[in-house]
Amino acid sequence: MRVLVTGGAGFIGANLCRSLVAATGIDSVVVLDDVSTGSVANLEEIVGDGAGAVELHVGSILDTDALDAAIVGCDAVVHLAAIPSVQRSVEAPIRSHLANATGTIEVLEAARRHGGLHVITASSSSVYGANPTMPKHEQLPTRPLSPYAASKLAAEAYTLAYGHSYSMPTLAFRFFNVYGPLQRPGHAYAAAIPAFVHATLTDQPITVHGTGEQSRDFTSVDTVAAVILDSLRRRVHDSEPINLAFGTRSSLNVVIGQIAELTGKRPEVRRVASRVGDVMHSQADGGRLAELFPDIRPVDLATGLKSTIAWMADDVIGA
Ligand code: NAD
Repeated sequence: MRVLVTGGAGFIGANLCRSLVAATGIDSVVVLDDVSTGSVANLEEIVGDGAGAVELHVGSILDTDALDAAIVGCDAVVHLAAIPSVQRSVEAPIRSHLANATGTIEVLEAARRHGGLHVITASSSSVYGANPTMPKHEQLPTRPLSPYAASKLAAEAYTLAYGHSYSMPTLAFRFFNVYGPLQRPGHAYAAAIPAFVHATLTDQPITVHGTGEQSRDFTSVDTVAAVILDSLRRRVHDSEPINLAFGTRSSLNVVIGQIAELTGKRPEVRRVASRVGDVMHSQADGGRLAELFPDIRPVDLATGLKSTIAWMADDVIGA
């Protein structure tokens, strides 16, 4: 099987590509990425020609020619390319819409032109937004709070509509706070875990927006890669969006406590104002995921944090 990964030079994409090139049943992997937030360095060890390597195309999903060149000969697409930040979407909503919503329909059209390929799209738990019900199950009404969330809702809706309208095997996953190696700290939009781990390892204060009691269903990137690989191999598709998380909610304060324990440090915590568009709690109902992927066991938080800390110490701080 030949697989196109859009956004494959990003955090989740590059971790996924590492699993795909080593997996049986996957013959070749192509990446299309404009390296706007991702980087070629994320694929350094695996980029090249032939078996066990990733064929890298630097270009945008908004460029039809670039998409056609990357997708030709592929059997499946994992569509991860997006501008994945709530804050950026609040500052530049049309840019987010173009990359995340228009970009998704471009990818789906390319998959349709090239024979109705299997398409797996990354949506986001942010689509639940202001809906207070917990845990979040897929049948809940969505209430996006940010342009980012609205654009991801459009992305998953297009993905599922292509399944219905063109009988294409499509699947839309709602990711919930994915973390792990290759997720970079040190920029204004950094996710919580890499920012906390980096601050702790470099003896800087941890900045927390709000009380720290806000909680998330943190999911290891290795678990996400395992679920996507299983989807590809078994050509899993569904007419409804699927939460990709397991109902294990942890507060930011608990995460900070675990990082302190694993590193043997005592980080100083500075509390600042909450951010526009942030939700207080997020926890998945993982029932549908368990039905579709009965063999997948999630990596627990302590194990996932351990590998994140080791990567940050070696590849970011030690580099
Ligand atoms: P990332 O920024 O590391 O990866 C996104 C990749 O898409 C980057 O490599 C970027 O260069 C590329 N890209 C952006 N615009 C592009 C375009 N027009 N053409 C081609 N490539 C483009 O972010 P990530 O965390 O790896 O996110 C991957 C996907 O998962 C995104 O769709 C994101 O919305 C979704 N998601 C992530 C999380 C999370 O916790 N990380 C949660 C929910 C959803």
